[in-house]
Amino acid sequence: MIEVTNIHKSFGDNHVLTGIDAVFEPGKVSLIIGGSGSGKSTLLKCIVGLHQPTQGKVFFDGQEFTRMSFEEKVPIRKEIGMLFQNSALFDSMTVEQNIVFTLDMFTEMSKQEKIERANFCLERVNLAGKNDLYPSELSGGMKKRVGIARAISMNPKYLFCDEPNSGLDPATSILIDELIQELTDEFKCTTVVVTHDMNSVMGIGDYILFLFKGQKYWEGSNQDMLKSDNQELNDFVFASPLMKAARDTIKP
Ligand code: ADP
Ligand code: MG
Repeated sequence: MIEVTNIHKSFGDNHVLTGIDAVFEPGKVSLIIGGSGSGKSTLLKCIVGLHQPTQGKVFFDGQEFTRMSFEEKVPIRKEIGMLFQNSALFDSMTVEQNIVFTLDMFTEMSKQEKIERANFCLERVNLAGKNDLYPSELSGGMKKRVGIARAISMNPKYLFCDEPNSGLDPATSILIDELIQELTDEFKCTTVVVTHDMNSVMGIGDYILFLFKGQKYWEGSNQDMLKSDNQELNDFVFASPLMKAARDTIKP
C-alpha cells in the first residue's frame, strides 16, 4: 500500500500541487486523471522520489519514504517499476540491453541470469525473440511493451506508469491496459497509472483520483464517476461524447 499525505510541490512561484492525500491499494490499478498541466506527472514523480515534495509525506507499506536518505531509499527503489511517458528507452541499446541495464544497476545476478530474466519479461509482454532489435526498429506499442518489460524486470511491488497509452491506437491501448491489469493481478503490485484516456478509466480503474489545478477534486470508482455531480470532473470526463453516451445509459 502507498499512502501520500498533504503533498505540496512548487517550482519557484508555481504551486503545482497543493495538499494531495491518497491511498493506493495493493493488487489494484489506481488511476490519476486530470487535464494537461494539472500536476499528474509531478505527483507521480513526488511519489517515486524523482521530485522531493515541498511539503507532505509518502509512505510505502508504512515506511516514510520522504524522510529517508538516498541510501535508505535504495531498497524501496528496487521494488519500484516505472514506465515513463515516452517509454524512455536507450536508443543506442538493443531491447535486451535496455532490460539488462536495469538489472546491472540493481542486482548481483550473473550475465546468464540477467538474460534469462530479460527473456522472461519479454515473453510476458509478448515480445519473445525481439532481444536484438533497437528502439528505432519498434512500433510505438512495442516500445511501450519493452518499457513495461523493463519496469517489471525487478519484480516490482510498486508499478508506476505515466500515460502508458499516449500515442497508441485504440486497439493497442487496450492491449497495454490489459497487460498492466494482468501484471497487477499476477504480482499483486500496487499500481498507479497516470492517464487521460477515458477508455482506460472505464476499463481498468479500480480507484480514480481526479486532479484539477494541482488539487484533489474527486476520488472514487469509475461507476461513481458516471454519477458524480462534481462540475470540474464532469467537464473533464464528459468532454468525450462516448462518455456522455455511457452516462446517459445509466442516468436517463
Ligand atoms: P500533467 O502531467 O498533469 O500534464 P505536470 O505535472 O507535468 O502536469 O505539470 C504541472 C505543472 O508543473 C506545469 O505547469 C509544469 O509547467 C510544471 N512543472 C512540471 N515539472 C516541472 C519542472 N521540472 N520544473 C518546473 N516546472 C515544472
Ligand atoms: Mg504528464
